[in-house]
Amino acid sequence: MSRKSIIAANWKMNMTPTEAAAFLDPFLTTFSESVNVDIVIAPSFVALAKASEMITPNPAVSLSAQNMSHEASGAFTGETSAAMLLDVGCEYVILGHSERRSIYGEDDAVINKKVHATLSAGMKPILCIGESLAEREGGKLESVLSGQLEGSLADVGADQMADIVIAYEPVWAIGTGVTASPEQAQDTQKFVRSVLEDLYGSDVAGATRIQYGGSVKPGNAEELLGQPDIDGFLVGGASLDPQSFAEIVSAGIGG
Ligand code: PEP
Repeated sequence: MSRKSIIAANWKMNMTPTEAAAFLDPFLTTFSESVNVDIVIAPSFVALAKASEMITPNPAVSLSAQNMSHEASGAFTGETSAAMLLDVGCEYVILGHSERRSIYGEDDAVINKKVHATLSAGMKPILCIGESLAEREGGKLESVLSGQLEGSLADVGADQMADIVIAYEPVWAIGTGVTASPEQAQDTQKFVRSVLEDLYGSDVAGATRIQYGGSVKPGNAEELLGQPDIDGFLVGGASLDPQSFAEIVSAGIGG
């Protein structure tokens, strides 16, 4: 089954609104027409409005948030709701990133609430899963990933899966400069797809886009994208430089 690749920039806590505009100005000129890859930019909350202004007229690029509250509104100081993200022009929301899980204690139960809130608002979750090095080396890779998928996707129906992107991000490869080898990433993503098949059947599993994330760079993008179960990337560090992110996107367009 052919799946359209999706390549997303996760800027994390980088880029002021001014810096975001300076990045997007040349980047959006380079990618100004629809291409065979979905390109997504996830700025910080404070840069979303500026980025939205620039991205909205561009048919090739979509806007994502990096996190969201599962609560609809009210006394939740510092939080951001689905309605706010929708209003500012987000199409996607990154959920369950390993930094949210490990630094802010988000577990699969809360991520599951966020997945439902995102879908109910008509936006698309980019749901992150991934194992630590200790878990991989301790033989727990498959149980960790299947547990994260089952927990985060609880009560999500097969008909809703078309709006969900899975990002497989081995924690040991995020921001470390260590990339999973193409074989490691492929084997693991094939396993992830098999879990989706158990949960939703082969049609849904075959149609779901699974990104790889973890020290993706222009130099390794093409080989990773050549793997049959890798349908794009979630890119951290290398997405902060317009030239290197453009090269990664170009690898997707060319592949
Ligand atoms: C990420 O944080 O989603 C990520 C993949 O980061 P990096 O590309 O820097 O490893």
